Amino acid sequence: MQKPLPFDAATVRRIAEKYPTPFYLYDEQGMRDACRKLNAAFAWCPGFREYFAVKALPNPYVLEVLKDEGLGADCSSLAELELSERVGLTGEDLMFTSNNTQAHEYQKAADLGAIINLDDLSHIDYLKEHVGLPELLCFRYNPGSAREGNVIIGKPEEAKYGFTEAQLFDGYAILKAAGVKRFGLHTMVASNELNGDFFVETARMVFDLAVRIHQQLGVRMEFVNLGGGIGIPYRPEHKAVDLQAVGQGVKKVYDAMIAGTPLSPLKVMMENGRMITGPHGFLVTTAIHHKHIYRDYVGVDACMSNLMRPGMYGAYHHITVLGKENAPHDRIVDVVGSLCENNDKFAINRPLPAVERGDLLVIHDAGAHGHAMGFQYNGKLRSAELLMKPDGTVKMIRRAETHDDYFATLDFSGLACSK
Ligand SMILES: *Cc1c(COP(=O)(O)O)cnc(C)c1O
Repeated sequence: MQKPLPFDAATVRRIAEKYPTPFYLYDEQGMRDACRKLNAAFAWCPGFREYFAVKALPNPYVLEVLKDEGLGADCSSLAELELSERVGLTGEDLMFTSNNTQAHEYQKAADLGAIINLDDLSHIDYLKEHVGLPELLCFRYNPGSAREGNVIIGKPEEAKYGFTEAQLFDGYAILKAAGVKRFGLHTMVASNELNGDFFVETARMVFDLAVRIHQQLGVRMEFVNLGGGIGIPYRPEHKAVDLQAVGQGVKKVYDAMIAGTPLSPLKVMMENGRMITGPHGFLVTTAIHHKHIYRDYVGVDACMSNLMRPGMYGAYHHITVLGKENAPHDRIVDVVGSLCENNDKFAINRPLPAVERGDLLVIHDAGAHGHAMGFQYNGKLRSAELLMKPDGTVKMIRRAETHDDYFATLDFSGLACSK
């Protein structure tokens, strides 16, 4: 089975003549369309907003595109806050959903006026002591065994994130007594979830909590944040989540539980990363070697330090050998990088056409949690990132690392041999 590409082989070859492989290539139009689809699905909801999970693709040019589509930014660290700030996202354009957070990160979030989403009950006092309590605060709920989770995020009761239900009630009571005026409720229970009903159930769960918190404490939630986690069809046989159906499903629950109650209007927010940029990013790499031992291998010039999802989660990423889309896929190979780690494989036992040295391989669905997870183990360097604009022009939005970058943090001056 094939997965379509938003550009043809000749275009990618032309790009590869200018920018050496490996590189990431992003399709701006695809990202814009994804934003528009999600926004359209929730157009019924006054104040709906998607905060892009910056960690999925932390690049200012991408953030600028998403900002232009009306998205805010969901940040998990000081660097992500600063990145967003430098793109002009400030105040309530920013959601700060962190965990195990340090005071200076909360300080930055507060300075920017970001919506702070606390991960733990004990952080109320921590925030109060180090930064002071803002007028708006949000809590992250962990439903524990009440929800299933999935392989990427794990089971909620084993996950380190969030408040228990009892802690939520305690926490909002503390905030109210401390004079906090505005409240939000957040949860994130799944990642890469392809079943749209899951998000409708998440909405039901947080609406129910918002209603009970209001009844018991008189605390009126201003928004609920359903988290991110909308999955993407990594495999050709997968089907994309029907966003329109998710939006309508959430609306039905909203109409039944919230509309016409004192909680209305309740804003609904999300913070997806993957579904916005994932399918619109491609890792382009060149075949450099073949190897035939107990299995057959195709060696490429990218490695796990460019894309660690297959090694980390056993994730499937579809691979197109450019120009051989219609050739018989009659070779069973492992596609590997050069790390001294045997999980440095982009594909295992994958049927592909015969690959020659110099062929370009396009690794699909690498636009989220791809380049961002890169690392330098084995002295490998992170690649360039390129953005293809809607008019077909290509802009380099991050240069490739060089060996000088690798050596920049080392100090050889105290070594005996340098004296
Ligand atoms: C990673 C993360 C997201 C984004 O997850 P996706 O699977 O990319 O949608 C959103 N919110 C939080 C709190 C996260 O940790």
